Amino acid sequence: MVKSIGRKVRASWLHGWGKVRRICLAALRPGLIQTSKARRRGECSRCGACCRLTYQCPALYYLPDGMAACRYHQLRPINCRVFPIDERDLADRDMVMPERPCGFRFEDVPAASRSASRAAGS
Ligand code: SF4
Ligand code: SF4
Repeated sequence: MVKSIGRKVRASWLHGWGKVRRICLAALRPGLIQTSKARRRGECSRCGACCRLTYQCPALYYLPDGMAACRYHQLRPINCRVFPIDERDLADRDMVMPERPCGFRFEDVPAASRSASRAAGS
């Protein structure tokens, strides 16, 4: 019981910090976001797990086919737009929905490509 509460508190703290981190990186490190995007593969499968970090976002709803959707998609905040920045975001998201992976994954890219995308984004 105590362990379970401890896990929930820890997850909540991690997910809250993850949001702050995404906002700060998007605002202060655009080059890092670009570098990270260059490593990102796949596409959003609309599972909705990233909309349930810390709490279930009130803008989240599910279509009859089970796909997640956002009531304010065009106006969604920056921390939603950049998700997932890297493996750390995926690890947070996996705590919410371990049985189904995110549609995105990250691969390493050659150093030359990293430098090019950093130069383009910063
Ligand atoms: S967790 Fe990944 S696949 Fe699921 S809604 Fe978020 S970005 Fe899309
Ligand atoms: S604002 Fe939209 S994209 Fe962002 S967490 Fe809420 S439902 Fe998800």
